[in-house]
Amino acid sequence: MNEYDSDKMADVLRASEGMTRTDVLEDADLILFNTCSVREKAQEKVFSDLGRVRLLKVAKPDLLIGVGGCVASQEGATIVKRAPYVDMVFGPQTLHRLPQLMAARRASGDPQIDISFPEIEKFDHLPEIALGKIDGRTSVASAFVSIMEGCSKYCSFCVVPYTRGEEVSRPVADVMRDVQTLVAQGVGEITLLGQNVNAYSGVLTRDNQNGGRQNKNSWDDDERVDLAYLIQTLAALEGLQRLRFTTSHPKDMSQRLIDVYASTPKLSSHLHLPVQSGSDRILAAMKRGHTALEYKSTIKKLRQMRPDLVVSSDFIVGFPGETERDFEATLQLIKDVGYDSGYSFLYSPRPGTPAAQLKDEVSQEIKEARLQRLQDLLRAQSQTLTQDLLGSVQRVLVESVSRKNVHEMAGRLDSNRVVNFAGSPGMIGRFVEVKITDAWHHTLRGERIMSAG
Ligand code: SAM
Repeated sequence: MNEYDSDKMADVLRASEGMTRTDVLEDADLILFNTCSVREKAQEKVFSDLGRVRLLKVAKPDLLIGVGGCVASQEGATIVKRAPYVDMVFGPQTLHRLPQLMAARRASGDPQIDISFPEIEKFDHLPEIALGKIDGRTSVASAFVSIMEGCSKYCSFCVVPYTRGEEVSRPVADVMRDVQTLVAQGVGEITLLGQNVNAYSGVLTRDNQNGGRQNKNSWDDDERVDLAYLIQTLAALEGLQRLRFTTSHPKDMSQRLIDVYASTPKLSSHLHLPVQSGSDRILAAMKRGHTALEYKSTIKKLRQMRPDLVVSSDFIVGFPGETERDFEATLQLIKDVGYDSGYSFLYSPRPGTPAAQLKDEVSQEIKEARLQRLQDLLRAQSQTLTQDLLGSVQRVLVESVSRKNVHEMAGRLDSNRVVNFAGSPGMIGRFVEVKITDAWHHTLRGERIMSAG
């Protein structure tokens, strides 16, 4: 999501200011920091990075420095107080206003701060999607399309609802237009993006119903469609070959969405469904709204629809009050679900979240040892699943030339793993059949199978 937002900032600045990206800091006329505040480490890094670019401004007084993203949302004017050389502070929902903020900064000489949540407005002010003109950032094979923003779940540990605002979905017609543009340019795979993407609840179009109401509250629930509908609608597009979506919340994994795994072969067999913990006590304290058994039952239903489904997750280790027994329950859940991979984090108290008030008696040492055990288990499981792929034939979307060998191509399996195989750049963007011949921890090597005729 953050990467997607960074790309959008570059698109906005290219369209309105004719700016292009540079990797050389000293050449830049504008330096933007797109920040994440999900964990404390990321937040503090912003201030140390800002300190580093400060000297550049001394040598080049016209240089503009901006801070965007969730730290900007959370800290607002405090950023300018702590780092007075910052010119613009903007949130994830106001990145499209960057050109106006820059103009106002230049005209007034004062730092500009806009961290409001103007709901869906952001999507209306982004430049048209134009593949091939975006500094090679978007692969010709695969692209992201944001379909909703924000989160209304208010998990007790999470800062997202406060920094990105509540859930707001784009109309189906707007998403469809973006996907059609990409597919017409040869993109075979689309990943639908959102903080809580399976909570998608969009109207069909904003124009043909009551003259373009833009406020999310002015639409009735019965005028809305869900992610299941959106996926089925998009899957009907001829050129589109594979659809993914991320990130999901277990509570929003509706039966309709589960059924789509049976009816829609274009939907990828990889699902990232963050569970955070396997202990019901901790899940309740996190306000996740489901138990471990309910989560496992969702996975079971999904596998009834799609037996080869590969599941990954996020885990938080060391949530306040987590006992050894709670932690063991998480390890057990990892085994029961048979996760293919996962992102795991030490709990980080975030200011303004309810969990930050909880008493935490678990030592840092214990938390770190638990994190290590959890990561060891995930790694071992992942290795077994990788080995299981040996000898199988997989449908692979060719994404790029391999980073390590220019005579090899890198492609992605339906289950999201990367495979390298001998090929040529002309294959990029196409689906090919590859037989898996070698399997390491997370990368695979294979041989292309030539189809008959
Ligand atoms: N939609 C996701 C969900 O179902 O919770 C949230 C995405 S969040 C931006 C990415 C991940 O960061 C979360 O799944 C969680 O594992 C981790 N995370 C969020 N807040 C955290 C915190 N306070 N401490 C440690 N990890 C955290």
